[in-house]
Amino acid sequence: MVQIEERLLPKGEQGNRPGTPLSPIGLVIHTTANPGADAEVHYRYWSSGYRASSAHIVVDWGRALTLIPWQPGRAEVAWHAGPQANKRFLGLEICESNDPVQAQRAMENAAEVAAQVLRAWGWGTERLIAHAQVAWWLGGTDHQDPLPYLARWNRTWADFVAAVDRALRGLPAVAPAPQPAKPQPVAVLDAGGRRLAEGWLHDGSTVVRLRDLADGMGLIVDWDPGGPAVTLRWPGRRS
Ligand SMILES: [Zn+2]
Repeated sequence: MVQIEERLLPKGEQGNRPGTPLSPIGLVIHTTANPGADAEVHYRYWSSGYRASSAHIVVDWGRALTLIPWQPGRAEVAWHAGPQANKRFLGLEICESNDPVQAQRAMENAAEVAAQVLRAWGWGTERLIAHAQVAWWLGGTDHQDPLPYLARWNRTWADFVAAVDRALRGLPAVAPAPQPAKPQPVAVLDAGGRRLAEGWLHDGSTVVRLRDLADGMGLIVDWDPGGPAVTLRWPGRRS
């Protein structure tokens, strides 16, 4: 399973990463039309000057780089499929190669990475779309990728989707977010065994809300909003 490394492009008006938050509805698959240029070359290209283009992830025969955040809660706009599509979709670029072994690896890696993106968003392969389909639907470009490149290697779009589907089924289900451990309750008693308050264990110490404890002991809590002091007093006593 190819690991996705984070190599973020610089953010800003002058770059290819505007930093605009994105709520995507799917993932567009592209090929780079730049045979032999690997993920690192694309990172350098997009991080070294304004290109009016970019992508969230670029995948080659050995690596996958996140150039623009795509994860839930972090996703930002990238410029990969024209103004209408960019507001709606994540974009993944498959690096092209003239070498059959590299080409094969890059397409396999891309299917695995696409599966990881779909899984992170809780999507199925119905959220995958070829740039050619997006261009037909939303305009902005007349690109036909990745279809001619897949065809060159005797593959169809359906073959790629099937590879993503296989990878998706091999991935573990999304683990539920870890719940913070419930603090262990501690009863605070007086010498007669009467319950004064309930606290909890924190780093080996018992922590109790002061007001809970004061209430349990029949004390009055005076909190001075102007200063960092709390006064505890017996009812009816000034000091
Ligand atoms: Zn494209």
